[in-house]
Amino acid sequence: MANWLEGKIVNVHKWTDDLLSLQFEADVAPFKAGQFVRIGLDTDGERVGRPYSLVNSPGERPCEILFNIVEEGPLSPRLAQMHTGDSLFVVEKASGFLILDEIPETDYLWMFATGTAIGPFLSILKTGDPWQRFSKIVLGYSVSTVEEMAYRELISELTMEHPDKLEFVPFVTRETMDGAFQKRIPQSIESGELETRVGIELAADTSHVMLCGNAGMITDVSEVLSNRSMKRHRRREPGHITTEKYH
Ligand code: NAP
Repeated sequence: MANWLEGKIVNVHKWTDDLLSLQFEADVAPFKAGQFVRIGLDTDGERVGRPYSLVNSPGERPCEILFNIVEEGPLSPRLAQMHTGDSLFVVEKASGFLILDEIPETDYLWMFATGTAIGPFLSILKTGDPWQRFSKIVLGYSVSTVEEMAYRELISELTMEHPDKLEFVPFVTRETMDGAFQKRIPQSIESGELETRVGIELAADTSHVMLCGNAGMITDVSEVLSNRSMKRHRRREPGHITTEKYH
């Protein structure tokens, strides 16, 4: 049985009408950067819970989640109505395998996220581990419109802290933004433009790829990478691609 804890909301940030982050205090158990927790609210005497990745790093409090309002969803429209001081429920133990412990030794780490799936990668990048383990980290973040690109300030701080290691590549697919690709991640890999931009090769012998977000992006990137002999990584069958979809 899941052990639900009560959490208290300490901050609500609205990025757009449909995209929000909530910060809350709760005694969640120690977790690994990149994992998700189940958040719940009670409706008609029943607890409705959904998974949300933690954006905070393990040593950082308050806890933080980033989410889109899913109009017909049972939870996100209600979470979006919450204010500082309100309570929510959170399962004590986080889960998930989108964590650096699951990544084999490699020179270059490529992290590709769409939308709210930037969260778990930020949690990882706020820790010390990636900077010791990889010689280059490419963070590709794809959103449809400029206003949906959350945490730009945090990302520029990370880039300034790790100028030789971190390459941030924004993708804004339906608008123009200075410095951003106006195309999808898989197309930029296939055409070679992404590698030209960051100056390193995305190849099986040097790279590992982490994918999180839109299921279509995960399928399409995996397909493009399969043409480069890169395949899904499993503990018993090492490969080059680690994904997480909780939808
Ligand atoms: P989204 O709207 O699905 O994605 C926005 C970006 O993805 C847009 O740039 C869009 O391009 C692009 N995209 C769509 N289909 C694509 C494809 N086939 N190939 C490449 N790019 C594609 O973002 P979202 O609604 O925030 O969804 C994020 C998803 O991540 C949700 O399903 C959420 O549940 C999941 N998530 C998972 C985790 C986890 O597993 N730990 C954590 C957080 C979020 P266009 O504008 O061209 O369509």
